[in-house]
Amino acid sequence: MTLRTAEVAVFSGAGGPARTFTYGIPDGMDVAVGQLVRIPLAARTVAGVAIALDVEEPAGQLRNVAAVGEADPVLRPYQIELARWIAGHYRCALADAVRAMVPPGLARRTRTGSKARLVARRIPGELTVVDDDPVRDLDATAGQGEALAAIGASLAGVGSVFLLHGITGSGKTEVYMRAVALSLERGRGAIVLVPEIGLTPQVVARFVARFGERVALLHSALSEGERADEWRRVLAGTADVVVGSRSALFAPLARPGLIVVDEEQEPAYKQESDPRYHAVDAAIELGRITGATVVLGSATPRVTTYHAAREGAIRLLDLPERPGDLPLPPTTIVDLRLELKAGNRTTLSRALRVALERTIEKGEQAILYLNRRGYATVVLCRDCGHVLPCPACEIPYAFHADGRLVCHRCGRSEARVADHCPKCGSVRIRQLGVGTQRVEDDVRSAVPKARVLRLDRDAVRKKGAHAAAFELMRSGRAQVIVGTQMVAKGFDLPGVTLVGVINADTVLNLPDHTAAERTFELLTQVLGRSGRGAGGGRGILQTYLPEHYAIRAAAAHDYAAFAEAELATRRQFGLPPFGKLVLLQTSAKQESTVERRAAELSRALRAAAGQDADVLGPAPAFAAKKAGSHRAQTVLRGPRPAALLDRVPVGPQWSIDVDPVTLLG
Ligand code: ADP
Ligand code: ZN
Ligand code: ZN
Repeated sequence: MTLRTAEVAVFSGAGGPARTFTYGIPDGMDVAVGQLVRIPLAARTVAGVAIALDVEEPAGQLRNVAAVGEADPVLRPYQIELARWIAGHYRCALADAVRAMVPPGLARRTRTGSKARLVARRIPGELTVVDDDPVRDLDATAGQGEALAAIGASLAGVGSVFLLHGITGSGKTEVYMRAVALSLERGRGAIVLVPEIGLTPQVVARFVARFGERVALLHSALSEGERADEWRRVLAGTADVVVGSRSALFAPLARPGLIVVDEEQEPAYKQESDPRYHAVDAAIELGRITGATVVLGSATPRVTTYHAAREGAIRLLDLPERPGDLPLPPTTIVDLRLELKAGNRTTLSRALRVALERTIEKGEQAILYLNRRGYATVVLCRDCGHVLPCPACEIPYAFHADGRLVCHRCGRSEARVADHCPKCGSVRIRQLGVGTQRVEDDVRSAVPKARVLRLDRDAVRKKGAHAAAFELMRSGRAQVIVGTQMVAKGFDLPGVTLVGVINADTVLNLPDHTAAERTFELLTQVLGRSGRGAGGGRGILQTYLPEHYAIRAAAAHDYAAFAEAELATRRQFGLPPFGKLVLLQTSAKQESTVERRAAELSRALRAAAGQDADVLGPAPAFAAKKAGSHRAQTVLRGPRPAALLDRVPVGPQWSIDVDPVTLLG
């Protein structure tokens, strides 16, 4: 009798990375693909998942599988196929990709020979929200009807990929829910991915109101136990509508029919540790493997997605307007250079200040947005120019209104600003650059009668602060809210008739291939907060770059114009979708070590590159120093950058990020 073997993804190496090993299967033991097993590793017995059987002729003496875990497989065969694609495309260990598909703690809890635990079920708080569902039986709008007809045909056929392009409030979520119902009618489950920040109780409540107990919720804010229970309900088939963040893509549905990715442009869909997969690309691959239909939704899709839709690889579905047909707020661009010339040194331009005063006089509300917290972004000596840096990161400390110096990279803070320059002794210390706290001050003096709130990461440290701020605005007890991205998303307040962007350029100036795209998206999001009620609304964008296409297109609410200009720029520089990127990064305590290592690799890559890719760098990483380590990076850009890595293997000191969403890590 020939020896049977199992290829096993082993999660807990001896401190090393996850790996796959081949084990023998002893006589009388049954092992299935996807099953949890316990196997010997060095002197220990550890958990793993069998991912293939009888793959190779055993060479020499194999150790045997010690025991099988629970009776039924925990992974479906199509998931193992997806894991193989992830490992290949993103150049990570297969075992890392497999591990991403089982909930944390599952393998750890597996006991030899134990049966699947019967669960008391722990119910995530969100699932208990009850909500009635008045929209269920309403007629679809014309746009929704067309989208659903196309999605329905795909569900009945082999499965296509769609881009559902529509502004906030145009009815995308309603399309997702009706598409889910169509998939369930065909006996196939659905996965709906939402960015973590979009997973508000309101969104979850809509799905629960429509699909009840069939909804499983999977996101990182759940406890390990809650997550494991929800995951098991999917595995058991009791739940077949999965709503969750990135990793919910790996829910073990018996027959996936539909995968929705809402806000497909969100960088949070990219995992920033191994396996560095992008949930959109993985969703498309999962659709290819299983025949499921994939729907990507966004008001501001990435231009790569939009380009694929125009080229025909993805099918474009447009939802042109909001059901109530509310107009988008007319928006003025204010040139901050002219404010400086006119001697205005406050954070509010004259136009914004007047608009704010009028808004308050009329009893209406305003949102002011700035992407930087703190009071000032740099503390500087006026005599010698010395900037006070965080010693661990060597970036300038930000100054906070309570007198603390805070590093926005590592969080380190010092109690108070020295009253003299540590370098030259001068007492002429100055704070430069604007943060939300300074804007808050300026707003208070501009409209002293208004109640002003601030919402940023500092302000929400206290639990419930976010909800409390929303409630103060909703009830009309506060009139102005100053904040970071937190005010750009989910703040649906009919009383807000003015949105002011204090500095539209903070992201635009970053040296990143997605800087313009992120800027357009953020501006579109925050401007969309104005005029959601009957009173209409307006927007004001303050900028030093009033001619930039991202600023102009955002003010004009013109996605197509933005995409056109952005794609032209991307084409010129060979950036996605016209070229592919791979980001290689390394770090070490000694700067010289990092420099030598980076120079050596770049030289080898350049020598082997041929037509596959340009080798850019080495250069210090954007976060050139982090947690006391120096960091360097090299970027590969071209038609086949990953192929180059086949010829020049990079060592374990390097992280490999295929299709990075940012080069600023
Ligand atoms: P989006 O996801 O694009 O922001 P939603 O699906 O949340 O849009 O829809 C916006 C609002 O319009 C919601 O209050 C929703 O209940 C309502 N709505 C959506 N579709 C319809 C429809 N066909 N008829 C009436 N109201 C609708
Ligand atoms: Zn000095
Ligand atoms: Zn720091």
